[in-house]
Amino acid sequence: MPELPEVETVRRGLVPAMEGRVIERAQVNRPDLRFPFPERMAGRLTGARVLGLRRRSKYILADLSTGETLLVHLGMSGRMLISGVTIGGFHHAHPLPAKHDHVVLDMEGGARVTFNDARRFGAMDLMETAEADDHWLLRDIGPEPLGNRFDEDYLVARLKGRSTPVKAALLDQRLVAGLGNIYVCEVLNRARIDPRRKAGQIAAARVAALVPIVRSVLGEAIEAGGSSLKDYRQADGELGYFQHAFRAYDRAGEACRNDSCTGTIRRIVQSGRSTFYCPACQR
Ligand SMILES: [Zn+2]
Repeated sequence: MPELPEVETVRRGLVPAMEGRVIERAQVNRPDLRFPFPERMAGRLTGARVLGLRRRSKYILADLSTGETLLVHLGMSGRMLISGVTIGGFHHAHPLPAKHDHVVLDMEGGARVTFNDARRFGAMDLMETAEADDHWLLRDIGPEPLGNRFDEDYLVARLKGRSTPVKAALLDQRLVAGLGNIYVCEVLNRARIDPRRKAGQIAAARVAALVPIVRSVLGEAIEAGGSSLKDYRQADGELGYFQHAFRAYDRAGEACRNDSCTGTIRRIVQSGRSTFYCPACQR
């Protein structure tokens, strides 16, 4: 499942193909993904110029010259493919239409953007740009982890008194946007905090220290995604998936990488999801 850094990498990969360009043709091949597509979606997209591509949490938002904004969510298995243009020295010819190609956008300049989603947990919607923040998928989402509203005072105040495990608290999208299982495991490992600890029982200074760690863990992953765009080799022009070395996630039985720790990463299950942590240094 794509997490925030992957979505940001997809957004950055789409910018050269889409930003400032007119959608010359929009092809919509089915009535819905996870939710029904908006009425007349192809007609409302055709002829619109993409003024800018933003990201909010794990949603990509394309502001259009028509006053509407296209929302894209990749869901579990959604993929964005770019063809017809040269990226990073590699030219991807238009692929033959494939099963699960649900939306195809032919852009001014020759790029084709294909949204393929085998499991159809993805979503697309159109809304008035001025009301984008109030869209039902966006309005309850907390501050962006890389934005100014997510700071030490905010996190300390929000975790105070909470009896949920700190891992569950950080996964709560109302607290902070876009943090998923993989990156929360990484953050808590670097912070040396036991993921099972009650959020409200962690000293304020240790909670405050989570903020710069969240920023650097995500920042490093976005940077790794950025390098994958520059060094663009994937044969099918797919955006957003890249090699990234995790310290904790998926490393059960391997040595903890924290300085001066000789512990071993362990896997446990919390709320039905895998948690990877080091019992030696995460307290
Ligand atoms: Zn350790």
